[in-house]
This record gives sequence, C-alpha cells and structure tokens, in this order.
Amino acid sequence: MAMLGVYKKVDIRWGYQIMKKNILNFTLAEFKTELEKNGVKPFRAQQIFKWIYAHSLDTIASQSLGMIMDFKNMTNLSEKLQNELARSYTINLPKIKHVAHSKADNSYKFLLESKNKDLIESILMIYENRITVCVSCMIGCPLKCKFCATGSEIGFIRKLTCAEIIGQVIVVQQFLKEKKLGDKVTNVVYMGMGEPFLNVENVEKSIEVLRDDYSFGMAKSKITVSTSGVPQNIAAFINKQQVVLAVSLHFPTNELRDKYMPVNKSFPLEKLIIELKKIKLTKRQYITIEYMMLDGINDTVAHAKQLVKLLSTLKVKINLIPYNPIKGFDAKPSKEENIKTFAEYLKSKNIFVFVRLSKGTEFEGGCGQFAFKKLK
Ligand code: SAH
Ligand code: SF4
Repeated sequence: MAMLGVYKKVDIRWGYQIMKKNILNFTLAEFKTELEKNGVKPFRAQQIFKWIYAHSLDTIASQSLGMIMDFKNMTNLSEKLQNELARSYTINLPKIKHVAHSKADNSYKFLLESKNKDLIESILMIYENRITVCVSCMIGCPLKCKFCATGSEIGFIRKLTCAEIIGQVIVVQQFLKEKKLGDKVTNVVYMGMGEPFLNVENVEKSIEVLRDDYSFGMAKSKITVSTSGVPQNIAAFINKQQVVLAVSLHFPTNELRDKYMPVNKSFPLEKLIIELKKIKLTKRQYITIEYMMLDGINDTVAHAKQLVKLLSTLKVKINLIPYNPIKGFDAKPSKEENIKTFAEYLKSKNIFVFVRLSKGTEFEGGCGQFAFKKLK
C-alpha cells in the first residue's frame, strides 16, 4: 500500500514532515476515494466511520472516547492499516474549556477550544422529547445584525471547518453520556455563531456526515439550518439537502430590516421571498420563520398584518422569540400581552405560531446570542 497522506517540507534540517489530515473533515464518499487512491478497499472507510461516530455514541467515560479515537483500538483493521492510518491521519476533536448550566431551561453552554486554541461555542438543550445541539459554523459573524451579540460584539474571526462543526456534536454527545443527562443527541440546529450560507461548503459536508448511516444516521427532518437571508443559493441547498430551513426574518418591512440587519440592503425582502418560493416542500414540511419580539419596534398588530401579507405566498410556521437583551442595542423585549396579541392575530389568519415567553436559551433562537463573555 502506498503511504497515505501528504508530505510537506518544513525545515531542511529535519527533512520532510507529514501533515496529518483530520478524518472529521471528510464525508464518507470523500474518505472512500481518499483510501482507494492509496490502495485501501473502500469498505474500510465505512468501518473507520463506524468507529469514530457510531461507537463514540455508545461511550460513557471520556477516556473511552479517547480510546475509540485511537486507530490502535479499531480492532477490525489490520495492524498494518492501523499504523498507516496513524501516520497519515488524526481524529482531532475540540476540547471542552468551560461549561455553564442554565437551571431555568436545563441547557448547557459550551466553550470549546479548537486545535489552534480558537474558541467555539455550542449549546446542549435537553427537552422531554428531544435532545438538541446548537452548533456554530463560524467564530463571530460578518453580518453584524444590531441585536446579535455575535455580530455586533465579536465581529468576524473565521469560518469553522467541517471537523470543527462535527466535533461540536461529538463532544457534546460525549458530555451528555458522561454526565448521564440523556442517551443520544436527536437534533442539530445551525443556530450558533455565524451565518451557515456564508460557509456553505463546510456546513454541507457536516450535514452529510450527520445524515450518513455509518456516522450519526440523523434524519433530515432533525437538522435545521438558520439563515438571516444572504444572496446565496438558499433554495438549491435546501432542495438538495432537504433539511429544515429557519429564516431569521424579525422585521416585516425593508425599512425596519435595513435598520437592524445590514444584510437586508444587499438582499431585500422581495428577493428573499422569491428565493424562498423556490424551495420544494413536502406535505409535512414548512419553512420556519424566526421573529424576535422587540418592544414597540416590531410587535404591534400593524406589524403582524404586514408580516401576514409578506408571507402570504409561502408555507410557514412562525416562532415568536423573546429578545434577549445585549449591551449596545437600545431595545427592550416585548411585553407578554403584546406577544400574545401578536400571536393571536397570526393564528386568526390560520398561521402556525409557536411562542416562547421565557428568556434564555429555552427556545433554540436563544443560541444566536453568543458572545464569549456570557459564559462566565
Ligand atoms: N446567522 C444565522 C444563525 C445564527 S443566529 C441567523 O441569523 O439565522 C440564531 C438566531 O438567534 C437568529 O434567529 C438570530 O436572529 C437570533 N438572535 C440573535 N440575537 C438575538 C437576541 N439578542 N435575542 C434573541 N434572538 C437573537
Ligand atoms: Fe450573524 Fe445571525 Fe448574528 Fe446576524 S443574527 S450577526 S447573521 S449570527
């Protein structure tokens, strides 16, 4: 078998050093091709994926996760192949740096550290009927929505790799098991830091890994990608991946949206609606509309009427999210009675509405409020 991996000359005194590739950056199809190029039968890729993903779901102690991520313990591979793999590849996971528990809604916020010491945030949300991980796809975000701590306080640092996105799910799954909080992560939402449609390649790869039967085997209906609406191929992506799309709409007019979400200037509502209309939904599928309630800004019945008109040609469910106040944005969360009146109006127009009145991360939309200092 040819030596796997890529050689890079790093220093003439030390000769050639091998640059190991992180297997978590490969989809199964890519890893099969990679192994085949090196004379290894493609079914080995399935075996390795099973070790990394399926077996790690069964582990209890962190030590055993470390063991599973060691090629030496992949007992159905020959010793020769184990050694070849170890020479050319790594299975590199982010490390847990800090965890904060919110008793109010039984959620856990994680601060994870990547290989190069960058900080990544994720949330674990434990409900009665599902266990959801909210993953980040970037560190920071370039879109600078005024109400969002990620965009307004952190700015944009970098996109995450597929391995760093998938790594969040593995590490949180491991935490879940280790702390005996539950059995298996059932849902993944791309609602952490960053805009998924500005990191399409890695988001798409990570979705393929989540869905693969040899890894998490997650149903497409259990995966949600949230976007603020960017001029990318949103419809083509959703039609291909068939995951749930959530749109952070928040405002029913261009005038308001322009003011609080700068992305609206390059991708105004009429263009966004045209794009959303291209999405092919099955009978059971809906587009989720996220609407954050800001006192006196977007929460009157007049706004609800504008919203109904705007969405009249789409099949939607609307989530009314409480605004979680951040520093530097001069707005208040809507009053409970205004949220109820708003919801009643939408219901009277036969629109599915979900309301979460509590603050914090009880609702998934809460994970958009990431900023590192909030973890302390
Ligand atoms: N960039 C993507 C995904 C991450 S944000 C997007 O914007 O959709 C996840 C959700 O949290 C979005 O709906 C976002 O608008 C919302 N959010 C951001 N800041 C918030 C805040 N302070 N209070 C409540 N929701 C907020
Ligand atoms: Fe970025 Fe989403 Fe925050 Fe806007 S709401 S700044 S798109 S993470």
